[in-house]
Amino acid sequence: MLVLSCRPPIRLLARRLRRAFHDSRWPGWQVIIGIETHAQILSRQKLFSNSLNSGLGEAPNINVSPFDAAFPGTLPVLNQDCVDLALRTAIALDSKIQTRSSFDRKHYFYSDLPAGYQITQHYAPIALDGHLNIPNRDSPIRIKQIQLEQDTAKSVFDPHTRTSNIDLNRAGTGLLEIVTEPDLRSPEEAAGFVRTLQAMLRAIGASDGNMEAGSLRCDVNVSINSVGQPHGTRCEIKNLNGVKFIQAAIIFEVQRQRALLSNGYPVSQETRGFNSDTFETFKMRSKEEALDYRYMPDPNLGVIFITPERIEQTKQTMPELPWATRTRLTETYKLSEQDADILLSLGGGQEGSAVAYFDRLCKDRNPRVVFSWMVHELLGRLSAAKLTFADNPLSESQLGELVDLVHTGAITGTSGKLLLREILANPSQKTPTERARLMSLLSHDELDVDDLCVAAIAALPSEALAFKRGHMNVLNKILGWVMKESRGKADSKLVRERLVALLEQDRDA
Ligand code: ADP
Ligand code: MG
Repeated sequence: MLVLSCRPPIRLLARRLRRAFHDSRWPGWQVIIGIETHAQILSRQKLFSNSLNSGLGEAPNINVSPFDAAFPGTLPVLNQDCVDLALRTAIALDSKIQTRSSFDRKHYFYSDLPAGYQITQHYAPIALDGHLNIPNRDSPIRIKQIQLEQDTAKSVFDPHTRTSNIDLNRAGTGLLEIVTEPDLRSPEEAAGFVRTLQAMLRAIGASDGNMEAGSLRCDVNVSINSVGQPHGTRCEIKNLNGVKFIQAAIIFEVQRQRALLSNGYPVSQETRGFNSDTFETFKMRSKEEALDYRYMPDPNLGVIFITPERIEQTKQTMPELPWATRTRLTETYKLSEQDADILLSLGGGQEGSAVAYFDRLCKDRNPRVVFSWMVHELLGRLSAAKLTFADNPLSESQLGELVDLVHTGAITGTSGKLLLREILANPSQKTPTERARLMSLLSHDELDVDDLCVAAIAALPSEALAFKRGHMNVLNKILGWVMKESRGKADSKLVRERLVALLEQDRDA
């Protein structure tokens, strides 16, 4: 009896569980993903030396101090700006900042690592146990730890001379390593995680997060298991520098592991690379070949102490985080989440961030109208010219004035678009009103509209008669005549009103 009465709920639960895990790309399998992100810290100087961090395209080996080149006897000096940015990241990720953290040496031999070891935080990282909420998911992604470490140099192969050259510009640049727990469940969640993390790092100024330029790189761990079974053996795919590559690498890896397991072979723990031409992963080394890094505390660096006061002070100076901005945009301006995301994704221009630009424009204007002009018209025009918001030449007061001209009826919507196009094509110091006047876009006043309407009725007598007899549709033809005569400058709504008034006046007479 008891057993029978228990059955339906358990079956129901199992079905619900199956449905929750169901992915038609790999039915019956659960995908487990954990990501280790390396973000280059946006500090002026390197983590342990006073040489500058290098931008893209800089000549090789110009920003190198003796310490970066591992000259014997040189000593590291910790850059507090890097610590501060790590602290901000730790706060944004809602993690437990450690009162004491320290640095360790991770030893391996490679030509781009002059010291023979990388200074990292292995035993006592700066922060633990964080959280990041990502779109389309209820529970947050848990962050296992956040650590500070050095970047390596770069080896560049020259096919002409068939030599590998070492560029030490990047050697010693500060990195933030952010490690998740294995909480992600699909390629899409992995992409959402990286995009959310990237937006946050940019908002707080911790990293430019530029994946193509290599300032944000991900190692992605993937395993699969039959639904209801324990987690499988993971493979780690190294150094993915694009969201689309992350997704492709996971999809390839899941299918590869699924083929192995379905045919009775085990998945062996491996470090794998990703070929961005074929979108395939390939074996680099197995667990047996894994290096022994011989971690040891760095004797030349002391402990980082972080007091509760310093954390509190940093919290006070944190900018608005992207997810808070998103909520503010949807709640204050009643924008949809998609529209809020569009604004957030636009980044910055000469007038500051797109969100700040929008905020200022909305001060005494309708947010929906502002959004439409800013995103549909302005950005539409810019992207048609293969430009982005960063290239926007319109100051906030120029766009505001243009919006106001249309809103007050001084120019029509069509003229507003024309004016915008003209301003973008030929930027100048003139105000939009002056330019509208020069372009003869300022709407005819009511008298002119009246004259045109009277002229139209006179020019189209049979249409006017038809209207008076109740054929309302012919009004469009009369309206079209007026619009054509005014070269599109008349306000069609106003013309329609005037025409109806005149025609009905006629009929009543
Ligand atoms: P290690 O200490 O060997 O580097 P970690 O436990 O730190 O291993 O995990 C490294 C990364 O692998 C983390 O991002 C973690 O989330 C992820 N990970 C751990 N187990 C799995 C698994 N079964 N499948 C996928 N990813 C995993
Ligand atoms: Mg690890």
